[in-house]
Amino acid sequence: MQHVTLLLTPWYVPQRILRWQDAITMVFLEKADIVANYSSVVRSPSFEMPLPAVLRSKRAPARLRRGVAFTRTNVFGRDGYRCQYCGGRFDTRRLSYDHVIPRSAGGRTEWTNIVTACIPCNQRKGHLTCDDAGMWPLSQPVRPQTLPLFLPHLDTHQTPPEWHDFLVPNT
Ligand SMILES: [Zn+2]
Repeated sequence: MQHVTLLLTPWYVPQRILRWQDAITMVFLEKADIVANYSSVVRSPSFEMPLPAVLRSKRAPARLRRGVAFTRTNVFGRDGYRCQYCGGRFDTRRLSYDHVIPRSAGGRTEWTNIVTACIPCNQRKGHLTCDDAGMWPLSQPVRPQTLPLFLPHLDTHQTPPEWHDFLVPNT
C-alpha cells in the first residue's frame, strides 16, 4: 500500500484511496490540500515534492452534494430496518414503506412522509390517517443529510502509519 494516497472529505473522514499520481494531480489542480506526506519524494526534471500520504478534498463528494437518494433501501437504512409502528426489526423482504399521511389524503411520496413499516402494520394502517388508525410513527420522518459513506475496508495493520490518525479503528 506504499504508493497510494488516502483522500479525506472536507470534514476529515476517509473518502477513498487514490493512486499517488492522481493525488498529485489533485494537489496541482488545487482540489485538495496535503495533510500528511510519506518520507519518499517524487522527482521529475522540473519539480520535486514529497509523496502525499493523506489529502483532504476541498469539495464534498458529489454523492453528498446531491443529497441522499430517496429509495426504499435508503428509507429502511434511515429507520434502522425498524418498523416505525411496532418497533420490530425485520429484513428487507418483510418491510414495506408506509405513507404517514395517506395518499388519499394528499400525502406525498417523499422523505418526510414515508416511514418503514412491517407488512402487518402497513396492512393494519391501510389508508387511514394516524389519528384514525391510532398508529403514530416512532420518530418524525426527516430527509437524512448523510448515510454512512461507502468506505473501503481499511485495516490499520495493512495501511501506512501516516494514515492512522484518520482511520476509525476496526472493532
Ligand atoms: Zn410493525
